[in-house]
Amino acid sequence: MIAYGEALSLLRALAAVRKLGTETVELERCVGRVLAGPVASGSEFVPPFDNSAMDGFAVCAAATSEASVAQTLRLPVMACIVAGDRPPAEPPRRSEAVEIMTGAPMPGGALDAVIKIEDVRVVRDSDGTAREIEILRPAKAGENVRRQGEDYRPGTELLGAHTRLLPTHLLGLATVGHDRIAVKRKPRVVVISTGRELAPHTIRTLEPGQIRNSTGPFLVAGLEELGAEARYLGVVADEPRRFEALLSSLLDDPPNLILTTGAVSMGKHDFIADSLANLGWQILAQKVAIRPGKPLLIAEWEKGKTRPVFMGLPGNPISTAVGLRFFVEPFLRALTGLQTESPLWLPLAADTSKPEGLRCFFKARMEFGASSFSVRSLPGQASFMVHPLLEANGWVVLPEEGRQHSKGTWVEVYHLQPTWSGMGVRDEPGDMPARAKDH
Ligand code: AMP
Ligand code: MG
Repeated sequence: MIAYGEALSLLRALAAVRKLGTETVELERCVGRVLAGPVASGSEFVPPFDNSAMDGFAVCAAATSEASVAQTLRLPVMACIVAGDRPPAEPPRRSEAVEIMTGAPMPGGALDAVIKIEDVRVVRDSDGTAREIEILRPAKAGENVRRQGEDYRPGTELLGAHTRLLPTHLLGLATVGHDRIAVKRKPRVVVISTGRELAPHTIRTLEPGQIRNSTGPFLVAGLEELGAEARYLGVVADEPRRFEALLSSLLDDPPNLILTTGAVSMGKHDFIADSLANLGWQILAQKVAIRPGKPLLIAEWEKGKTRPVFMGLPGNPISTAVGLRFFVEPFLRALTGLQTESPLWLPLAADTSKPEGLRCFFKARMEFGASSFSVRSLPGQASFMVHPLLEANGWVVLPEEGRQHSKGTWVEVYHLQPTWSGMGVRDEPGDMPARAKDH
């Protein structure tokens, strides 16, 4: 049996010597993808030209310095420019004003400020054209003007390599005209369920002895959410020969990860380890000191280019969920070169007991009030109990040492789904710290 920290180091080491290729993807389809390299702004300034931040009138600030309510200043309006217009061919003089709409280019000349429309009195012709304005206070130079390049300057690094792209990143990249982005290929993951008791989750009526296969669809969806390309190969009903044939067939065009559920503990039908050994896989771990999910098998195929990794997760649904969140996720993260995930820390809402010597991953509920915050380990921690997961918004992680953690103890907590707000890093996969507490 190995400790969780050792298992993480092992998975990271496996990821470090395996590389995903790169592909180019349209910007619109890049959410969730991981940048293959840093992305810089191009040769453009953003904003591309000085423009107005308000609907109002462009004026020369220096010419308005004497304006007050008692002594208003009248200026003739010589043009109106809206967003999309070019600046007037002839630059206005300092004693003139130009009506200007938000986003329209500044008219040039001496006009260096915009007074918003609410702050002037406007005299209009019958057709609505502004003829003259009356200014009640001085304008400040640069007031309500968005300067060229204030948002982006050319040649600036915008995002580091290994950033997992969010919609907000796309907004930033589209602003400077990026249309196709070099991203890491998605890790390819194959999922196989084992268990002769499994019926499709869609079945109308269960036969005696049957249960619904809940973790098959869960894993496929969960993997996709983590940015992988998941392929489900169905259920092998505890038939080692069929499993071996299936596994061998995968080696023609191997995925990066083969994931199975069930048949990795000590039961009569727990054949995965024997099958792997028969086929020449190298088994690296068979038990990890955790709860739930202790019988977790890690193996690798050492031949060929892709060299798939194998993870055999235990069949109980919560063990499978813990396997996905705390083993598969950090492995995929390392494979794509993403930064390690840091836990939240929260005080326990109640005394919480656990078995000595096992790192525990408990279904948990975080509460963030206006003046208090805490995490509660939910009732029903048995690994077959799925219902509490629907109440959960996170996992509380209790260290190996100790049997009792008292209320108020600060403990590690992870969101149900990892969060991706972090920037990319410039180091390569494999350079990541192998500490158990921040995967
Ligand atoms: P195993 O790890 O094969 O011994 O399975 C442990 C428990 O998990 C058993 O009660 C199985 O019936 C259950 N189980 C295994 N696979 C699944 C699955 N795909 N969906 C739901 N429960 C499962
Ligand atoms: Mg089984």
